Amino acid sequence: MEIERVKCLIIGSGPAGYTAAIYASRAGLSPVLYQGLQPGGQLTITNDVENYPGYPEGVMGPEMMEDFKKQAERFGTDVRYGIATSVDFSSKPHKVTIDDSKVIEAHTVIISTGASAKWLGLESEARLNGSGVSACAVCDGFFYRGQDVVIVGAGDTAAEEATYLANLCSKVYMLVRRDEMRASTIMQERVKNTKNIEILWNTVTDEILGEHAVEAVRVKNLVTNETREIPAKGFFVAIGHEPNSAIFKDYLKLDENGYIRTIPGTSKTNVDGVFACGDVQDFTYRQAVTAAGSGCMAALDAERYLAALNLH
Ligand code: NDP
Repeated sequence: MEIERVKCLIIGSGPAGYTAAIYASRAGLSPVLYQGLQPGGQLTITNDVENYPGYPEGVMGPEMMEDFKKQAERFGTDVRYGIATSVDFSSKPHKVTIDDSKVIEAHTVIISTGASAKWLGLESEARLNGSGVSACAVCDGFFYRGQDVVIVGAGDTAAEEATYLANLCSKVYMLVRRDEMRASTIMQERVKNTKNIEILWNTVTDEILGEHAVEAVRVKNLVTNETREIPAKGFFVAIGHEPNSAIFKDYLKLDENGYIRTIPGTSKTNVDGVFACGDVQDFTYRQAVTAAGSGCMAALDAERYLAALNLH
């Protein structure tokens, strides 16, 4: 297998990974960054970002991530396509296998693999994924314009996506499993004030119906135990995310939800020379700007680690 040695390897290309890359390249660490499954990360599947400082009029997520990438490349980051498929942190330098075909030996590894959408786990959901079932309203809502859709979830993501879908679709049914929503008050108000969103409280998905494409959703009211079928062409899942930490679990300490544990106030993991930043280690804030801030911390921690070992 091909082997390459680098000072600093960055895994993941969201705000955390690219910010780490900007700092690491400006510090002369010649970082190599692998973009992972979803180049640009979660912001590439959102539309307007209105809360990232410095953009008074807002910015489109994909455009912002393209700017992050350009800025990292301008200082010499080697940005590559590829997915980290396994790691070996048992000896130094650390080894990361890319696409099962190449090993990168790295003195420092910065993990910024982010988080991915959660699914309900129904057989019909997996079978009809891409044929009406989606976890990204902004990506796929366009296909269902003028039609009825169902969305599951009651957090800020679900609220945001429901209002987005309401602009495109004739009717949006929002399934909320409790009698209240988790979303922030302002987002809840937006949902409740949108005429073509109908919230179904205490309601869960029983089955998604359709042979080759979504035709209807059978829902169940948890209070009355009644089921009913809602004709719909699109079924959107917006029930949160899980951290992309599976390949690290044999070496790194994770919390009960799979988030990588870092030493508070730092990006350091329990393995020397391995740092984590962004959503893969942040259950609490999960914002682009906090991810970017933690990416900066990881690059500075990596730089100091290399300097202390005279590897800089
Ligand atoms: P959350 O974890 O906040 O919410 C997940 C929602 O899905 C909850 O309402 C939960 O219900 C529901 N849910 C979970 N599992 C199931 C299931 N099996 N069946 C039905 N419903 C289920 O995730 P979000 O992605 O919404 O938000 C993540 C973070 O990102 C939050 O901190 C949020 O504030 C933030 N965010 C901010 C935005 C903004 O400021 N513009 C936009 C989007 C997200 P229950 O409440 O019953 O647990």
